Amino acid sequence: MAIATPPPAYESEEEAMILDMVRTLVAERVAPRAAEIDEKGEFPWDIKQLFAENDLLGVPFPAEYGGVGGSFVTYVKVVEEVAKACASSALIIAVQELGTLPIMIGGNDEQKRRFIPKLASGEHIAAYALTEAGSGSDAAGSMKTRAVRDGDSYVLNGNKIWITQGGVADVVTVFAVTDATKGPNGIGAFVVEKGTPGFSVGKLEKKMGIRGSPTVELNFVDCRVPAANMLGPEGDGFKIAMKVLDKSRPGIAAQAIGIAQGALDYATQYAKERIAFGKPIAQQQGLQFMLADMRTEIESARLLLYEAARKCDAGAPDTTEYAAMAKLKCGDVAMSVTTDAVQILGGFGYSVEYPVERMMRDAKITQIYEGTQQIQRVVIARKMVGKWSPPKA
Ligand SMILES: Cc1cc2nc3c(=O)[nH]c(=O)nc-3n(C[C@H](O)[C@H](O)[C@H](O)COP(=O)(O)OP(=O)(O)OC[C@H]3O[C@@H](n4cnc5c(N)ncnc54)[C@H](O)[C@@H]3O)c2cc1C
Repeated sequence: MAIATPPPAYESEEEAMILDMVRTLVAERVAPRAAEIDEKGEFPWDIKQLFAENDLLGVPFPAEYGGVGGSFVTYVKVVEEVAKACASSALIIAVQELGTLPIMIGGNDEQKRRFIPKLASGEHIAAYALTEAGSGSDAAGSMKTRAVRDGDSYVLNGNKIWITQGGVADVVTVFAVTDATKGPNGIGAFVVEKGTPGFSVGKLEKKMGIRGSPTVELNFVDCRVPAANMLGPEGDGFKIAMKVLDKSRPGIAAQAIGIAQGALDYATQYAKERIAFGKPIAQQQGLQFMLADMRTEIESARLLLYEAARKCDAGAPDTTEYAAMAKLKCGDVAMSVTTDAVQILGGFGYSVEYPVERMMRDAKITQIYEGTQQIQRVVIARKMVGKWSPPKA
């Protein structure tokens, strides 16, 4: 079925070149694989390779570290284009950014030169390991993984869960408590390389959506990591983790808006072709109102997303709340639009033979990871009203 998305507005010639290339790759190579990737539930190595060969895994990273040196605006548009066809494939690009950002943000020059070129080229895969069984939304308060200094190393013990690409990653940034008396200021960030003794991959999760994205448990048993792999000063890990989310949440918002646009494109075309009561269902005003609302929601969420990405590019002081607002809005729009797309296809929308049920399943995760929708509201409101502490007696 023909895709009806209007071409996006480009902000530079470089962006136009990248996005034109992405649209071609998506149409020819990604879209035809999307249903199979979902059905098999396996990491699509061919798609990762395709992205690596076309420099799509290093878009927002500086050229001096082997990246493309593109803007965050271009980066989110790339994720969005891929997500229109395949949310799992789009996540490869988004998680490469998520997993590389701790090094970009917290690393020294030597660490950046050591790790980033192979991540930007796609030779290596990155992951970001913050969440634990007992610590998701309350990431700092309940973290149990420990890192204890021993000579020139830190010894890590603990478990992380829900780690996207953790099992296929070459480089994982792991957040671990270095001083339990200091709360969020007693957490370190450590780059753990694949094959490090004591580091192993546990259970592979079976999931509702993004089934081509492997999500795993990671275990650390007396895992000795060189102190030279710690990012920033010892207690800065949690600050790094949060700064990363400011720049990675727009990527998830882009995944969400791409899923929504893909579902709307499909539902619109379907509604023009499906006949009921002697005319295309698209000519029923009840469905026209649904389509109009879906488009309006997507367009308004996308404007917020691009503004959040511009804030990332500018290093604006309100980047945190814009990133949270973009993820909140785009995630909710993705969920509502994909649900309506299933409705527009009627019984066929419920069948795996049509892509909208996959899009609806894939949309749900955008309301959960990188901070749930409730946590985005906490972040936004805290920026508005501040954090209150009871007056000292
Ligand atoms: C497929 C998948 C991939 C993931 N990938 C990664 C990854 O690569 N790296 C990583 O580190 N983590 C990853 N995660 C973890 C993800 O970020 C967490 O699941 C998420 O932050 C929520 O944490 P939780 O699951 O422990 O839920 P909880 O924190 O237990 O929350 C449960 C419910 O309570 C609500 N809640 C909690 N606190 C508050 C509050 N203060 N106010 C209002 N409501 C609240 C939540 O919104 C939620 O609805 C992934 C998760 C999934 C499912």
